[in-house]
Amino acid sequence: MMCAISAGRRGRRVVLLDHARKLAPKIKISGGGRCNFTNIHLGSEHFISENPDFCRSALARFTPSDFLSCLRTHSISWHEKKLGQLFCDTSSTAIISMLKQECLEAGVEFRLGHEVSDVRRECLAGSGQFVLETSGGVFCAPSLVVASGGLSVPEIGASPIGYGIAEKFGLRVTRLKPGLVPLTVGSGFPDLSGISVDCIASCNGMSFRESALFTHRGMSGPAILQISSYWNPGDEIELDLLPDHSGFSWLDTTEKLLLSNFLSRFLPRKLAQYCCRTFLADKPLNQYSQKEIATVADKLHAFRIRPSGTEGYRKAEVTVGGVSTHDLSSKTMEARTVPGLFFIGEVVDVTGHLGGYNFQWAWSSGFAAGQHA
Ligand SMILES: Cc1cc2nc3c(=O)[nH]c(=O)nc-3n(C[C@H](O)[C@H](O)[C@H](O)COP(=O)(O)OP(=O)(O)OC[C@H]3O[C@@H](n4cnc5c(N)ncnc54)[C@H](O)[C@@H]3O)c2cc1C
Repeated sequence: MMCAISAGRRGRRVVLLDHARKLAPKIKISGGGRCNFTNIHLGSEHFISENPDFCRSALARFTPSDFLSCLRTHSISWHEKKLGQLFCDTSSTAIISMLKQECLEAGVEFRLGHEVSDVRRECLAGSGQFVLETSGGVFCAPSLVVASGGLSVPEIGASPIGYGIAEKFGLRVTRLKPGLVPLTVGSGFPDLSGISVDCIASCNGMSFRESALFTHRGMSGPAILQISSYWNPGDEIELDLLPDHSGFSWLDTTEKLLLSNFLSRFLPRKLAQYCCRTFLADKPLNQYSQKEIATVADKLHAFRIRPSGTEGYRKAEVTVGGVSTHDLSSKTMEARTVPGLFFIGEVVDVTGHLGGYNFQWAWSSGFAAGQHA
């Protein structure tokens, strides 16, 4: 929709095709119904891509401030929740209505309930045209912008069509995997299910400080969702369960309290008991040797889990990977070898961290393509 607005305002005739019967189903369910539409700490370091610099140009040309000025024009109020994450005060439908109204003003025509099944290029009336086969008939256009998203949440319409179109036209698609997704761990943590802890989660050189949640099947919560995008099968994830304490001086060895009771001052009681039961002895603190105390601290600063897998695309917020950035222009989002063919948003190999970055990428890349399509 952002791309359609940007192209429509330039006087281009735009038809927006979607197999969904209602506009923007993902915006509707996003951010718990309030849409975390951007992040004020926007920067390329919050994106994963084979080419980490690719997103810079588009993000600089349509910024969070630009999106906020659209909200201001439409009198949509918002607030910062945490870590620069901006949410609507009322409901995500306010964003959908705003985009719809802007589309209508820019002359965009909607064709909902139209499933695109195939795209080819033909020479018609002396010029190259994209020919789209859809469930609602055939459409021809000199420019085609693919904004078909990733594979997450198939129940609301996700499909692999965009990757198929890219490959058909000779563009590379990088390895795809679910991102921002809960992780499964062996037989899960039924005794700890529902317990949340502030921690630093680390894997493959990345760390996030946020809360992590133990679940029946494994782990979730913002820290785990963030690190899941960097996790690959077989990798271990390390959790620092005491991010505000370093070393072991905080473990007071003059205390006569049981370790589990002492740890309950710093961690949820059930988690303290679980740690003592599973990998720490539980005796009065003054009976631990200095070496044992160092081991206790080490285990808590580096609580290791080896996930068995993820909850998959059904629960993932995004797809990591996509149409290779090496095959697209970072300025226009146009395929380098196929004039008139553009890819934007999540279908591209640019994946944001949790916190409004994925929508900002969708707005910015859409705006960039709309200026050239
Ligand atoms: C539960 C959930 C919550 C999220 N919350 C946030 C959030 O708060 N903040 C944030 O930044 N990001 C969030 N995201 C991620 C964000 O929604 C996506 O990154 C963003 O929507 C991508 O935009 P897009 O336009 O590229 O693709 P999409 O929004 O996925 O749109 C793709 C469209 O293509 C259509 N389509 C697919 N295949 C076909 C076909 N064959 N024919 C016709 N149409 C087709 C689909 O119906 C869909 O409407 C969330 C994701 C999920 C799943």
